[in-house]
Amino acid sequence: MTAYALPPPPVPSLTIAGDSARFPVRRIFCVGRNYAEHAREMGADTREPPFFFTKPADALVEDGADCPYPPATTALHHEAELVIALGQGGADIPAETALSHVWGYAPGNDLTRRDLQDAAKAARRPWDMAKGFDGSAVCGALVPAIRIGHPGRGRILCHVEGQLRQEGNLADMIWSVPEIVSHLSRLVALAPGDLIYTGTPAGVGPVGRGQSCSVEIEGLGRITTRFS
Ligand code: MN
Repeated sequence: MTAYALPPPPVPSLTIAGDSARFPVRRIFCVGRNYAEHAREMGADTREPPFFFTKPADALVEDGADCPYPPATTALHHEAELVIALGQGGADIPAETALSHVWGYAPGNDLTRRDLQDAAKAARRPWDMAKGFDGSAVCGALVPAIRIGHPGRGRILCHVEGQLRQEGNLADMIWSVPEIVSHLSRLVALAPGDLIYTGTPAGVGPVGRGQSCSVEIEGLGRITTRFS
């Protein structure tokens, strides 16, 4: 057995719907701009190939959490997203077989310090501190693909204080789930436990202190986060 100088950190994990076992999380990848209307609202071309950024796995927050409003921002933004969880890894995965690597799905919220992201974009600096802060990766209970299949369409909604902010459909993603897995696997060797946030529809906006934000995806349920 390995002797460690410090107690090793806990394995980040997610609840699995209808199961007492937990899903161990390895890494968190996110796709930027994957819905045409959101790409346009961010001033970008809608035809460019997918690009990726990451969040630390211990930035995960589960459904129902009461989170401190993050430091160093006055513009915390919600991004409602479909999250995919990989059960099987691999490199250079063809899109045709990519779905067999997907273990399950959940609704997620790619929380963003938009003011820091805008500053980073302007200075051509990395997005890490805008995207990968503590508590930035909200993710609901995973629903296994073996139970529900692979949703190619379905409404995705975001509400702040009960007010509709984002409304889209998974069918409107520029890059589909198998295409995302395939593209990403050409950049890094994927592994079981990896999560991928698949991008957000139009309508991103602020969530304030004392407000709650929910993300709902047809067939996957709803997650709520409150900020204090
Ligand atoms: Mn996003």
